[in-house]
Amino acid sequence: MDLELHGKTALVCASSKGLGYGCALALAQEGVAVTMVARGREALEAAAETVRAATGVAVTAVSADIASAEGRARVLAACPSPDILVNNAGGPKPGDFRDWTREDWLAALDANMLAPIEMIKATVDGMMARGFGRIINITSSAVKEPIDILGLSNGARSGLTGFVAGLARKTAARNVTINNLLPGPFATGRLEATLRASASLNGCSYEEVVAQWQARNPAGRFGEPMEFGRTCAFLCSAHAGFINAQNLLLDGGAYPGTF
Ligand code: NAP
Repeated sequence: MDLELHGKTALVCASSKGLGYGCALALAQEGVAVTMVARGREALEAAAETVRAATGVAVTAVSADIASAEGRARVLAACPSPDILVNNAGGPKPGDFRDWTREDWLAALDANMLAPIEMIKATVDGMMARGFGRIINITSSAVKEPIDILGLSNGARSGLTGFVAGLARKTAARNVTINNLLPGPFATGRLEATLRASASLNGCSYEEVVAQWQARNPAGRFGEPMEFGRTCAFLCSAHAGFINAQNLLLDGGAYPGTF
């Protein structure tokens, strides 16, 4: 299927690795010029070069912290009017809510709620004026099924989800959709770090924890970042204009509900 994205531009936040990288590569494979963002310059430049070499599209790399106002300003200076915005950032730390300070909460809100809202604020009016826009927020399956030790994530991402639920109804008539993608377990650096921490806490091997987690999933495996990226590319396509204000779980069926 031709997604009819050739010649469009995308700004993909937090995309030198993992799910963001999958989205950047999948969009580039559809002929979209991408601006990729991450804090670590070396990994970002390498990722941008891989996407450029694999697809031949224009790739701009901006090394910036998307959670900071200064970082966002530099990103938006490089890509002020994207047709597609993918909001993403690292997830908050796990722990017990009794240990979290106001600063911990503000950091989680900055990265996982306020940064995406600021990025939407800076780009959505241009999208509406041009009559095309696709905004994807990478959130988490924890929005539907909270994970107790990830309370900072549950809270901050639910705030974003509530906000965009209202806004998406104001943009769709101008062919600007806003949807959230909710990853379950995907094989990325972040998941590996979580599993290694769990292994060392429980006194077992990393391989044992991987096997336990995979066995728990109805698909018997973890998701692959490119499966995530291609779902993102489809939601950004010309054909997905009637899919709006949705929270789409990509978790192999792990969420135990009927709906
Ligand atoms: P990952 O493999 O660790 O990749 C994170 C990417 O984001 C890297 O490119 C990182 O580069 C960049 N990044 C992080 N913080 C940033 C910031 N403040 N500004 C700019 N770039 C930033 O993580 P992932 O697994 O793809 O996860 C992406 C998001 O999905 C996270 O919020 C995570 O919590 C959520 N999630 C993931 C899973 C999963 O199973 N993978 C499940 C549920 C939710 P730098 O560090 O160099 O900036």
